[in-house]
Amino acid sequence: MVRLFAAAVLAASPAATQPALEAPLPPVRPWHGASERLIANSGDRWITPAEAAAFATTPDYAATRAWLDRLVAASPLLSIETFGRSPQGRDLYYVRAHKGGTTPKPVVLVQAGIHAGEIEGKDAGLMLLRDIGLRGKDRLLDSVDLVFVPIYNADGHERSSPWNRPNQRGPRDMGWRTTAQNLNLNRDYLKADAPETRAMIALIRRLDPVLYLDLHVTDGIDHRYDVTYAFSGWRSYGARSAAIGRLLDTGLRPAMDAALVEAGHTPGYYVSTIDNRAPEKGMSQDVDTPRFSTGYGDTAHIPTLLVETHSLKPYRQRVLGTYVFVEEALRFAGERAAELRSAIAADRAARPVTMTATWKPNPVPLYSVDFLGLAHDSYRSPASGRDELRWLPKPVTFKMPVYGSLPDKVVQLPKAWWVPATLPHVIDLLRLHGVTIEPVAAPVTRTLDMARATNPKLGSASEGHVPLDATIVHETRRETMPAGSVRVPADQPLGLLAAYLLEPESEEGVLAWNMAPGMLQRTEYIEGYAIAPLADRMLASDPALRAAFDAKLKADPAFAADPTARLQWFYARTPYYDERYLLYPIGREVN
Ligand SMILES: [Zn+2]
Repeated sequence: MVRLFAAAVLAASPAATQPALEAPLPPVRPWHGASERLIANSGDRWITPAEAAAFATTPDYAATRAWLDRLVAASPLLSIETFGRSPQGRDLYYVRAHKGGTTPKPVVLVQAGIHAGEIEGKDAGLMLLRDIGLRGKDRLLDSVDLVFVPIYNADGHERSSPWNRPNQRGPRDMGWRTTAQNLNLNRDYLKADAPETRAMIALIRRLDPVLYLDLHVTDGIDHRYDVTYAFSGWRSYGARSAAIGRLLDTGLRPAMDAALVEAGHTPGYYVSTIDNRAPEKGMSQDVDTPRFSTGYGDTAHIPTLLVETHSLKPYRQRVLGTYVFVEEALRFAGERAAELRSAIAADRAARPVTMTATWKPNPVPLYSVDFLGLAHDSYRSPASGRDELRWLPKPVTFKMPVYGSLPDKVVQLPKAWWVPATLPHVIDLLRLHGVTIEPVAAPVTRTLDMARATNPKLGSASEGHVPLDATIVHETRRETMPAGSVRVPADQPLGLLAAYLLEPESEEGVLAWNMAPGMLQRTEYIEGYAIAPLADRMLASDPALRAAFDAKLKADPAFAADPTARLQWFYARTPYYDERYLLYPIGREVN
């Protein structure tokens, strides 16, 4: 059955008839570990589809749901619930594992398949839910509930093919990175364009998890780590949620590393090298912005872990490593739920007064690690015409510098922002994220700090937007905010999240994503028969203006030779000109 399905897929792809087109991967390294004992025996009635296929394949959306429905029906600890719908009409659902009465417990939220080709989280979760629901691991539920989303990017999961991830060792057919709307859900947390993101944010708000896991696979370079992970605050660096970062770093990290090592895995920090062709140069530990799960969690004060198994390790090994990770996270959260809660509360009580809008590379490493690498050599590629890197199965350990960033542009937060009723989609977004807003029932006129986007330049299409780059110039204005506008106080737990969305300098916000594109268009104009005599009169009556005009003519020959540009120059200096042109409509209350 499985073989027939694969043959059909292969036949459908013209490239598939040419095995020479399969990307050759670096040599596989043999692996054995205690976590292999987690695999159900063949013939076990509760064997998962991936186990039954010896981890050569992963079940599709329907087969996954059918297996889970059967499991949930068999275990009183498990229930299944829909929390949204994909653009192609698939239910987004989770399995909740809960024990003992109706009192809600702190939740550990685990999502698999945000990038649907990176899918071992799903197969690991099926095994773990079985072992919790039917095989005695229900002690994990003594103090916490597990809420498990097996296939977050459901539409991407069904765009399945053997050709989707050339750098990944199995499963044979894997899903697609982005959604049916070609949105990357792990760039969408703050702007929340995708219905999937909106459903997930609403779920996060409803559950308010004490721990949130986002399960992935990463490629990049070859090395010996099989389970890498990251969170804000790793080795005391980069956390906006300082108390959460400290607890994850001093509490979770050593426990997690020990559990993974004991199960035969090799944990490490998420490997993101500065130069994949020269890995020894170093790797980076970024401060994630809130478009990412980790950056969002850090900004919204939700303890969030990014898990990235290594794509060159076999699927079986990756599933098992992910299982161990999720189980240990659940155990940790159960034992330390009270500490997690107080760290969350402490970070939600903090009131940052600045937002780092942009970062720049720090030339000095944060620290270095004894990196468990693999040797490489090079060969001449006739195709590229240069020396290409080739990975070898020989272990090498070397000092790997880890680089962070330095704040570049830092913005002082205002007392509040004012979002006019004319931007209902922005107000909706604030509501979605749970930001406290104060709607006004009648028009309000007040002095605000406003931003004008000078030299606006549209960028290349990115994440469903045509982003806007501009030089921001601030001005003080009397503004009237119509009824239905909202005041967004900075003094609230999600003040920093609001800042990322609303500050004109934010790289993640309404202006940068060009979510208020009306500001870029000038719609009124003046005819030549009106502006030319008016300009002549202005020149004759205003010596300062005349001097400025003469200087402009001297400095800019193209301008001097362009009658329309010359008249425009005067138009911009008349009261007829659109004074709201390029004005960012969200105001800042600074006093
Ligand atoms: Zn990913």
